[in-house]
Amino acid sequence: MTGLMNGKRGLIMGVANNHSIAWGISKALAAQGAELAFTYQGEALGKRVKPLAAEVGSDFLLPCDVEDIASVDTVISAIKERWGKLDFIVHAIGFSDKNELKGLYADTSRDNFSRTMVISCFSFTEIAKRAAELMNDGGSMLTLTYGGSVRVMPNYNVMGVAKAALEASVRYLAADYGVRGIRVNAISAGPIRTLAGAGISDARAMLSWQQKNSPLRRTVTIDDVGSSALYLLSDLSRGVTGEIHYVDSGYNITSMPALDALRT
Ligand code: NAD
Repeated sequence: MTGLMNGKRGLIMGVANNHSIAWGISKALAAQGAELAFTYQGEALGKRVKPLAAEVGSDFLLPCDVEDIASVDTVISAIKERWGKLDFIVHAIGFSDKNELKGLYADTSRDNFSRTMVISCFSFTEIAKRAAELMNDGGSMLTLTYGGSVRVMPNYNVMGVAKAALEASVRYLAADYGVRGIRVNAISAGPIRTLAGAGISDARAMLSWQQKNSPLRRTVTIDDVGSSALYLLSDLSRGVTGEIHYVDSGYNITSMPALDALRT
């Protein structure tokens, strides 16, 4: 199947480098004809994102730090001016102080709790509200979450709480915007080696556990997530909204370690 995204224009937020989940999604979308705009957090990352954007035929790059709402507004204004509309957005943004992505959840500080919530959760709502104003013909919005939202994962701590709130936001936003033909979904990805992923203590152990114990006996790649994102952002999923779609080699359905892993 080719040209699934022909004529569609979308905003990708969260590419840091070529290991980013948002980059896997960008490649899948561009291969099907989507036109993409990118945001980057700060000039150092901008230097990395620029050549990647060029690889998928985009020269539309804008700085954005979601802690500064004025920078989000500037992005939306620039898109309005250049494109006049938006068909989809990808929110692949998460942050928490890595000193609190280890040890006890109970030790989370008030400052880091608030900051984690604003960047990793509320920014999606703020961006969705603004992007919806450019989606007069309907649209699709996607964010990224992790299974630490519904089950306890070692060291994931406050990020798990923020992802739980993010998933609830997906459902509320889907209800808000459904009547306007705008769909809102999330992908819950299995662990992947990325810049953000490396901030979580014992990330290697989590990758190895998933590889040994998930039904598919492997970890997922950014291209696996990209293909599923293509489905959720294209008309193929036109009847789907408010969903948390797992792309985790099936790990979320298991209730105990795989027997073959226990025996080795
Ligand atoms: P990544 O480090 O490549 O991407 C994280 C992005 O968040 C970066 O581009 C960074 O610039 C951006 N960001 C952080 N704070 C920001 C701010 N204040 N303003 C604007 N941008 C900001 O890592 P990734 O793993 O590709 O993460 C993308 C999303 O996927 C995150 O929401 C993450 O929680 C989620 N996720 C990751 C995994 C994993 O194992 N890597 C699994 C499930 C979900």
